[in-house]
Parts: sequence; C-alpha cells; structure tokens
Amino acid sequence: MANPTPFDNYLSQLATAARHADLAPDTVEALKRPKRILQASLPVRMDDGSVRVFDAYRVQFDDTRGPFKGGIRYHPQVDLAEVKALSAWMAMKCAVVDIPFGGGKGGIVVDPKKLSRRELEALSRAYVDAFHMNLGPHIDVPAPDVYTDAQVMAWMLDEYEKFHGKSPAMITGKPVEIGGSLGRGTATAQGGVYVLLAALAKMGKRPKDLTVAIQGYGNAGQVMARILHGLGFKVVAVSDSKGGLFCEDCFDPEKVFDHKARTFSVKGFPRAEEVTNEELLTLPVDILIPAALENQITAKNADKIRAKVVLELANGPTTPEADAMLSRKGTLVIPDILSNAGGVTVSYFEWVQNLQGYSWTEDEVKARLRPVMEKAYFAIHEIAEEKGTSLRTAAFVLALRRIGAAARYRSG
Ligand code: NAD
Repeated sequence: MANPTPFDNYLSQLATAARHADLAPDTVEALKRPKRILQASLPVRMDDGSVRVFDAYRVQFDDTRGPFKGGIRYHPQVDLAEVKALSAWMAMKCAVVDIPFGGGKGGIVVDPKKLSRRELEALSRAYVDAFHMNLGPHIDVPAPDVYTDAQVMAWMLDEYEKFHGKSPAMITGKPVEIGGSLGRGTATAQGGVYVLLAALAKMGKRPKDLTVAIQGYGNAGQVMARILHGLGFKVVAVSDSKGGLFCEDCFDPEKVFDHKARTFSVKGFPRAEEVTNEELLTLPVDILIPAALENQITAKNADKIRAKVVLELANGPTTPEADAMLSRKGTLVIPDILSNAGGVTVSYFEWVQNLQGYSWTEDEVKARLRPVMEKAYFAIHEIAEEKGTSLRTAAFVLALRRIGAAARYRSG
C-alpha cells in the first residue's frame, strides 16, 4: 500500500493475528470497525474577538470488556483514520494488560502551541460540551495524549461536572489535587521500563552496557530518558518536534530539561551534535525508543535501523512492512500495545481510586504496576515462542482471545 493510514496498519495487524488466535469470525469482523464515531465542530471565540471552528472526534471502538477508554490528542495532523486506529489499539492494549476497559480515543485538529491559555481552555470545554452525553465513568473515560495534559483534563472534568455533578472517575490523568493518581505522570515510561528490563533479562543483557536513542521528548519520552539514565543506561540521543541531540557522554536529564524549558527544544544542547528526527532513528545504538507519533519506522528506513531492540512507547510508530523487515533482521520489536500500557494501567488505578473515594501512595501504585506489566510481557513472550510469531502478533493474539471470550458470554 502506497501510504497506509494508521487504521490500515491496524487492520493488517488484526488480520495477521486473527490467523493465529482461533477466534469466531464474528469477533474479528466486529473488530474491523468502531462501534461508534462521534464528530463535532467546535466554535471557539479567539482572543482577537473572531470565532474559529475546530474539527473534533471521539471514536468509541469496542466496549466488550468495559467502558471505552483512551486519550484525547490535540495536533494539527489529527484525522479520523488516526483516531480510529488509536481507539482500536486502546481496545487491544487494555485487553493485553487485562484491565476492565474497552478502547476509545479522541482528537482535535489544532496546533495548541498557537493558542493562548484562555483559548486552550475554551477549546477543551467545548470538546466536553459537544460529547458529554457520550462520556462518563461507566461509558467512556478519556485521558491525556499528545499535547494534552493534567490541566486540560481538569478543565474537561470541571465542564463535565456542570452537567452531571461530581464525577472524578469520568476522566484520568487529572491533577492529584482533584482526584488524579500519584504515579500517573510517570506511568507510561515506568511501565515501558518494567517491560524492557524483563526483555533484557531474557536476553542476558545489562543496562550499563547499553546505549539508547529516544524520539519524542514529552510525557513518554522525557520521563523514559530520566528513568533509564537513573538506571545506568547510556542515553545518547533524544529529539522533539524541532530536532534532536546526539552525544556519547553529555546527556544529563536535568540539564536537557532546563535547556528545553529555555529554548523550547532539546536541539542546540551544549556539546551535543544536532541530529534530525530521521537521523536519530538510524543511529548506532542498542535500544531505539520511538515516543512521538505514528509511521516513523517505515519500509524506507527499516533497513537502516541499527538498534537490536525497538521499544515502542509511541502508538503505531512502525508500519507492518517495516515490522516484517525488522523481524527478518532479527530486531526485537516490543510492541506499543504492551510497551506503553503502563499509562492506561495507572489510569485504571486512578479510576478505581476515584470510585472508591480512597487514594493510594505512589509506592502502592508502582508496586501494583510492575506485576501487571511483567505478567503481560511473559504471557506474550510465551505465545510468541509457541506460535513462532513476533511479539506484536502474540500481543494481538492475547488481546483477541480475551475480547473474544468476553464477547462469547455477552452474545450467548
Ligand atoms: P507529549 O505531547 O507529552 O509529547 C510529544 C512529544 O513528541 C513532544 O516532545 C514533541 O515535541 C514530540 N514530537 C511531536 N511531533 C514530532 C515529530 N514529528 N518528530 C519527533 N518528535 C515529535 O505526548 P506523549 O504523551 O509523550 O505521547 C507521545 C506518544 O506516546 C504518543 O504516540 C502517545 O499516543 C503515546 N502514549 C502516551 C501515553 C501517555 O500517558 N502520555 C500513554 C500511551 C501512549
């Protein structure tokens, strides 16, 4: 396919896994399209007095195992094919870590960096005004994604509660002060670390011997760099939307953080070489961590990737063609629906705490996250060995079995 959309990629992954999963054809058929697509035009009064209208989506993919669950993305390239794919991967991901949610996702076509804080708040509230009847703790539970954060979740919760009364469990990734969970801010990266350590232990490799490049320096990538650096891995390259840095021995997470806070990019960090996002992917490192957007590792660059392990913190960074090429080269790709599932797992913990009206300590959150991630990794590893598939196909097989089993009980 010339330019496959993320949803084309999902369908191809589904088809590959369905051949190994012994599923009722109805289950696979139902997972080829979303259960519901919600779309709205959001008018926002801008600071200059004009009104701009933004396209917004909420895709509710599957709720066989529980309420729809998934983040809301603010990005100029958001489109329906992307949101559909992200919602489908959420359904698979929640099943992989065996938490009682289905999959959903939302997005607004906007460059939030060009909005004032007041405009951003108005847009976030307009999103909830448009979709609130289809959201709720037991219906559909949003969370942050690219270019949305705890503050955006707070505005959305506040708007929702104007219609429905106090309902902290309707959204996750909130500030701790209004019901967020300790440990949610670091959960995506922390979960990825637990999976990476389990995989490296199986390969007999030690952190201190390994170099790492990370594409994307937001919630997922930046926290990952910090944790891996702390564990003794050698982080040698990181990047954001403006470009990247490469440096064998000058990476320091605190200093890079300060540099980005001052200049709005990791690019231009003192003593480091500049690299583009494209160059970062093909650097001679042991571990490559895409933590930005979809379709970064494609048939065009997969042959040039030198890392032996790719840990997908981003959703959908590798196309199916590239996946096959990496697999032929013997590169271990640890798939997104496992690697970044720590985020939704702690979102689940947040939802549980909100429903109980009781909060856990950060140590409790971490202690509960680790076994969830490790259990999922070992189950997937076993399926991959047994069936001779990639970890991605094995992860899909595990998810499809669980969704299929739930569907059988519901449909009789
Ligand atoms: P974020 O908004 O915090 O950060 C996004 C980062 O990507 C920024 O550093 C930005 O500069 C960079 N970026 C944007 N466009 C880029 C480009 N073209 N090339 C390189 N870098 C680019 O977002 P995030 O929450 O860190 O999400 C990153 C990825 O992780 C996404 O795929 C998201 O779906 C996935 N993810 C995030 C979470 C979470 O809890 N935050 C959970 C699961 C998966």
